[in-house]
Amino acid sequence: MEIKQIDQMYVANTYKRFPVEIVSGKGSLVYDENGKRYIDMGSGIAVNSFGIADDVWMSAVTEQLGHVQHTSNLYYTAPCAKLAKTLCERTGMKKVFFANSGAEANECAIKVARKYAAEKRGADVYTILTLQNSFHGRTLTTLAATGQDHFHELFQPLTPGFIHTPANDLDALIAATEAQDNKIAAYMIELVQGEGGVNVLTEEFVHGLCAYAEAHDILVIVDEVQTGNGRTGALYAYMNYGIQPDVVTTAKGIGGGLPLGAALMSEKVEHVLRFGDHGSTYGGNPVCCAGAQTVIDRIDDALLAEVKEKSAYIFDTLRHANGVESVTGMGLMIGVKTEKPAGEVLAECMEHGVLCLTAKDKIRLLPALNIPMELLKEAIAVLCAACAK
Ligand SMILES: *Cc1c(COP(=O)(O)O)cnc(C)c1O
Repeated sequence: MEIKQIDQMYVANTYKRFPVEIVSGKGSLVYDENGKRYIDMGSGIAVNSFGIADDVWMSAVTEQLGHVQHTSNLYYTAPCAKLAKTLCERTGMKKVFFANSGAEANECAIKVARKYAAEKRGADVYTILTLQNSFHGRTLTTLAATGQDHFHELFQPLTPGFIHTPANDLDALIAATEAQDNKIAAYMIELVQGEGGVNVLTEEFVHGLCAYAEAHDILVIVDEVQTGNGRTGALYAYMNYGIQPDVVTTAKGIGGGLPLGAALMSEKVEHVLRFGDHGSTYGGNPVCCAGAQTVIDRIDDALLAEVKEKSAYIFDTLRHANGVESVTGMGLMIGVKTEKPAGEVLAECMEHGVLCLTAKDKIRLLPALNIPMELLKEAIAVLCAACAK
């Protein structure tokens, strides 16, 4: 039997896969079962930060594999401790909880917000306000946090205590908060909505939200599962806005290809979680952390300058391309609204050896942070041609 048939028969049919089997790759190039070459403009949904089989990442991962692959959180391991130290030093945050995915990192942030509010403001303060069109994960609680009704329909009842208001509408956010007598534990936002269509929050909205939150002891959780780890041209996207969130969550790109999530806690909430309040068997796995250390360590000013330069190239080229209606995003997280249906453009790109993603009705680009300029130019030329036809 072919792999595609075996997969369709035995793997839960929750994914609509493209008819391509990826067998290998290096950097920003991947190869399918027939040896066809593709330029990877999706990096496994912003996960392979330095591309496929990156030498530095691989050597750290394999070295750690040779020492110990897992210990549980009953013991200390150096990769976990060192990565937490690096993340705190680079962000000014005070504590890190390690999980295995974005949804789990967000679950941790939600628990922090609920416990902080319950202890400080009373048991009736637990509601978390998130934005319409947001995406925060697939567990029942992070689904409840996700402001898209179509994800909710057949999974009722979801975890209670979540409300949603439109992105970039400060009046609506404040009105909804006041309608709850300010009994809101936290605002939880993506600064650039990824799955929701690469929508960028305005500075005005974000600063207004933070100011209102500060004045009413409402925590600000920034979900940087997709925007984090260099993706937007800063180590974390909140740094582009000059704000100081109370909790930052991340996953996807931090592990460079292995599952790792993290919730970073600021001084205000660093002591909220105590012994027994939260945990994870795999969380902070030494192999994942050893790889992640090489990812974070290489996201320096020089790399971020490169990300911005490549971003400018993509924006400048696509903005004036035939068949392109608009380009949105930040850094190497880019949404392209095309005249043709995004699905058609994507299929045409694939045919011509370029792997793209979609988000709602847009083409979404999330290439590796270190994609070579020649490959990027080649991929964008293919995309332009696909949009124009
Ligand atoms: C992908 C994503 C998640 C969920 O991450 P998983 O690792 O799939 O659980 C949560 N929030 C945002 C913003 C994401 O992009």
